[in-house]
Amino acid sequence: MSALIQLRASAMPLALRCGGSAVPSKIRLNTSCAPADAGSAAHYVLKTLPASGRVDWSLVDVAAQLYQIDPKEISVLVALGARMWPELAPSFPNAIAEQRLVSLIYTERGSWELSGSPDFVTIGETIARGGDWKCGRKDTDYSQQMMGYNALLLLNNPGLLESHMSLIWIRTGEVETYSMTRAQLEQWLTRVESTVINWDGVLRPSDDYCHHCPRSHECDASNALARRNVAAIVDCSLDSPEASLDTMSAEEKIGFYKKAKAVDIFLKGFLAALKTEALERGPIATDECSLEISEELQRDIDTKNAWPVLQSMLTDDEMVKVVDVRVSRAEKIISAKAGRGNGAKSVREFKQKLEDAGAVSYDTIEKMVLRRK
Ligand code: SF4
Repeated sequence: MSALIQLRASAMPLALRCGGSAVPSKIRLNTSCAPADAGSAAHYVLKTLPASGRVDWSLVDVAAQLYQIDPKEISVLVALGARMWPELAPSFPNAIAEQRLVSLIYTERGSWELSGSPDFVTIGETIARGGDWKCGRKDTDYSQQMMGYNALLLLNNPGLLESHMSLIWIRTGEVETYSMTRAQLEQWLTRVESTVINWDGVLRPSDDYCHHCPRSHECDASNALARRNVAAIVDCSLDSPEASLDTMSAEEKIGFYKKAKAVDIFLKGFLAALKTEALERGPIATDECSLEISEELQRDIDTKNAWPVLQSMLTDDEMVKVVDVRVSRAEKIISAKAGRGNGAKSVREFKQKLEDAGAVSYDTIEKMVLRRK
């Protein structure tokens, strides 16, 4: 008897582009030690917002520890999400956070399972609405993940006529909504069955998504693509990248960017795997050299003990150059001191006082991002 095919809604963007990505890996990698980004940490804090209507700022430090991310970075993203919520909230009354949805779908050829946990959903008599926080920069096409959630909501709630799932892009304040009616549910399930469940065996590699695939380490097509990318980059005039760019069209430059990113991701993953091996199994050695973990002492200063010393030796103007204010921690303390029900008001007052005192300034950081149109 063949094993039940299990698909997660979050895997649908990839599975519908390359059905091979849904085939279980022969070798499953433990990627739990891979560095998480600030987005995952912000997501962790924001998950309680739709159901409670307020941000639990104490979760920032928990997320910082869990994901090993600077709490300042997390707070900025959480604040952006919280700023969007008052406008979104009326569309999501009585929202339920992270409800796990599962459905067994029967077909002529057997059955398969679809599952997923949208960040929050509101289920009405005939219409369901839900949302998923995204902390990236509208770089990835998540439409099929939203359609997967829509399908699950319709399959699990026979009274619903339609479902609407929104991607909430907190960095840019954009909302992207994907909808599904019962008639569209049938079309979508048929598409999944023909592309993924009855996959034709053809691998469809691409620089756009292979690096997200759980099978990329064992996929010949992905490896061939990686080799082609490295060759294309080496072929470019490395002495003068500017001269090479001069002769390229916009399409070629974006294609080159995707190749370079794919190679970069591959190299970072490879170097991280080497580091894990050296950490867990000890030095990787030849007769000539050894790849090993080197430990360096980092100085850490206890602020409370250092404070009187700094005050005795520095002027106020000099003090501001050495002291870094952690606003998220100050907000947490102020919120806790204010007591239940008064935390948000006190934090707002604190922020306003900082603004009024001219203590807040904003820096513009320039980053190169690839955005969908
Ligand atoms: S690595 Fe790429 S080509 Fe290979 S199975 Fe995954 S998505 Fe398909």
